[in-house]
Amino acid sequence: MKKQNSNRNIKYLILHVSGNSNLNLRAQCIQDYFLRPKAQGGKGWSRGGYHKIIEGDGDIFTFYDDNDVTFGIKPFRGISNANSLHVCTIGGINRSGKPVDNRTEAQRKSQARVIQEYTEKYPNIKILGHNQTDLKPCPCYNVPKFLQSIGIPDKFILFDDFRGVLKANGY
Ligand SMILES: [Zn+2]
Repeated sequence: MKKQNSNRNIKYLILHVSGNSNLNLRAQCIQDYFLRPKAQGGKGWSRGGYHKIIEGDGDIFTFYDDNDVTFGIKPFRGISNANSLHVCTIGGINRSGKPVDNRTEAQRKSQARVIQEYTEKYPNIKILGHNQTDLKPCPCYNVPKFLQSIGIPDKFILFDDFRGVLKANGY
C-alpha cells in the first residue's frame, strides 16, 4: 500500500475530543462519520481526523500510521496536519450539550500511555490541545495542566494559549 508523505517531520501531538455525550460510542463510529458521504450525514473526507481514538473504557484504536496525515486541525502558525499526530478521546459534551471534561479514569490512563510512547519515539515533539490553535473548546480541558499532572516533562508541553480559549473558559 502506498503511504502518503512517508517521511514527514512530526513536530506536534494534538489532543482532541469527539464531542459526544455518550461515552459508550465506539471509535469506529467516529472514523466512519469522517469518511461517510455528506449526503449520508458524514463529512465526506478522504481520511479521518485522528490517528488514534480512545473509547470510554480506555481501549485505544489506531486508524492511521504515524506517517499518514489525518485531518485534525486547520493550520495555525506552522502547526498543521502535515507535521502533527492527532489523538482523540470519546466524550466532551454533557447531556445539556455543553463542553465538559468527562474523561474516564481509564481514558486518562490510556492517554498517558499513548503520550509516553510518543515522547519516547519523538524526543522533540510538543504536545498541545486543539483549543490552543483554534477557537474551539476541544478537547474541553487545559492540556498543559493535564500533561503536568501525569508527569510529562515541560519540554514536551506547548503552553501557549494562542487563541485565549483556555483563559476564556477557565480551563
Ligand atoms: Zn479537536
